[in-house]
Amino acid sequence: MVDRAYNFAAGPACMPEPVLKKAQSELMNWHGCGMSVMEMSHRGSQFAEIHTEAKARFKRLLNIPDTHEVLFLQGGATGQFAAIPLNLMDGKAASYAVTGNFSGIAAKEAAKYGEVRIAYEGKENNYSHIPTQGELVIAPDSAYFHYCANNTIFGTAWDYVPETSGVPLVADMSSEIMSRPVDVSRYALIYAGAQKNIAPAGLTVVIIDKSFAGHEAAITPQIMSYQKMIDKDSMLNTPPCWCIYMLGLVLEWVEEQGGVSEMDRRRRERAGLLYDVLDNSRLYKAHAEPGSRSMMNVTFRTGDEALDKEFCDGAAKRGLLNVKGHRLTGGMRVSLYNAMSLEGAKAVAEYMKDFEVEHHV
Ligand SMILES: *Cc1c(COP(=O)(O)O)cnc(C)c1O
Repeated sequence: MVDRAYNFAAGPACMPEPVLKKAQSELMNWHGCGMSVMEMSHRGSQFAEIHTEAKARFKRLLNIPDTHEVLFLQGGATGQFAAIPLNLMDGKAASYAVTGNFSGIAAKEAAKYGEVRIAYEGKENNYSHIPTQGELVIAPDSAYFHYCANNTIFGTAWDYVPETSGVPLVADMSSEIMSRPVDVSRYALIYAGAQKNIAPAGLTVVIIDKSFAGHEAAITPQIMSYQKMIDKDSMLNTPPCWCIYMLGLVLEWVEEQGGVSEMDRRRRERAGLLYDVLDNSRLYKAHAEPGSRSMMNVTFRTGDEALDKEFCDGAAKRGLLNVKGHRLTGGMRVSLYNAMSLEGAKAVAEYMKDFEVEHHV
């Protein structure tokens, strides 16, 4: 680690080093075929192997039942904000819990295609709180209930799966997919922009209960039709080949490390170090309420913007990159995805303590 910094960016984010090295070693000539993955046909046998393997690994790691299909799509999580209502609303209203920026955008996008009911709105506490089950108002006749499992910008996360009394469950898991076990059978649909935790930017993963496909509105663009993508195994058009290859390497690494339960243990350990500093600090204030805290994105501030800036500048000097908070939250945000080592988390926790000693009497 002489020439690589610790990168705490929220996404695109750090990748596991062994994955980058393997990609480097295979860059010019994949498995002796004489071509780079970037150069091969998406319909050829080599890429078929890469695609099949990545999908099999994805299903294995999250223990995905046969009722569900895994799709490798493009357009980001933002594309799914439109695809979900187009495919799933089927003339009904949909309920959205707004717990941050992205879930708010998702609800607005859905409102273009049908009626949206707000099951929870967290604006008044600047999205520092995740609703309890009792605070959720899910309209019983909703086509689905949508929530964002981990709010990347505000650093909050749901520590439970909402009970919906039979309303199909849809979740944006962009910034936590593969960081913990999920009971996929409880969801009609899970989606994730891959650039936070599992791959480079350009790939969106959708896990869909197949019985929810095939009911899309007539105006649905064909690349947004889940049924068409299921029928074509995500290859209706050219898929993001390189990203799918990189996803495969990341998932291979996750398996070698011990799978999602090990990722879950590690994320608790990493985030625990930072929350421990925050809970014992007189300088920093965590943005998220206890009980609503994210283990992937830790958000905090000093309350003094100039001091926050000094913190971020000082961090960069120590090789701790991208700790500045999003403009909506201000302060700092330290993203601790699967690829972040415990050493990286320790380095930032130490820096937080040192900075406090230097700046607080
Ligand atoms: C980053 C992010 C998005 C937006 O993803 P894009 O791939 O840029 O469209 C949506 N939801 C969450 C939770 C995110 O972290």
